Amino acid sequence: MSCLFCSIVAGEIPSKLVYEDDAALAFLDINPWHAGHTLVIPKEHVETVLEDSSILAEIAPAIVATAALLTAKLGADGMNVLSNAGGVSGQEVFHAHVHLIPRYANLPGIAGMSMREDGIDLNEIHARIVN
Ligand code: 5GP
Ligand code: ZN
Repeated sequence: MSCLFCSIVAGEIPSKLVYEDDAALAFLDINPWHAGHTLVIPKEHVETVLEDSSILAEIAPAIVATAALLTAKLGADGMNVLSNAGGVSGQEVFHAHVHLIPRYANLPGIAGMSMREDGIDLNEIHARIVN
């Protein structure tokens, strides 16, 4: 069975990578809610972060390092750390992933999380993070 995020891990589909370690990849979400919206995924295929008690632990260093990178490079004021598990929760890609959604003081609060910002330039954001 083909899996979009396994194809990204294999390098068959391009991604705007921001962080990698032995267990995880982090790359920009193609349809960001806020500037710097990033997905952290385990390199191994599991459907959700709740499938196995080790998954979140394995990718925890990547989650923390990537959040620190986004905060430093983009000047984020906060961060939503979110994982959807199961279709009813909103999961659309069934390879476990944690959303890191940088938040900015101009649009605070949980309600602001899903107020998608228009006009985010992924190339510009990626350059700011990796340079
Ligand atoms: P979910 O709804 O499963 O929690 O989140 C899946 C996320 O993957 C969505 O935010 C969506 O924008 C993102 N996404 C879907 N296809 C691609 C892709 O091909 N590349 C990247 N970088 N992100 C994707
Ligand atoms: Zn997969």
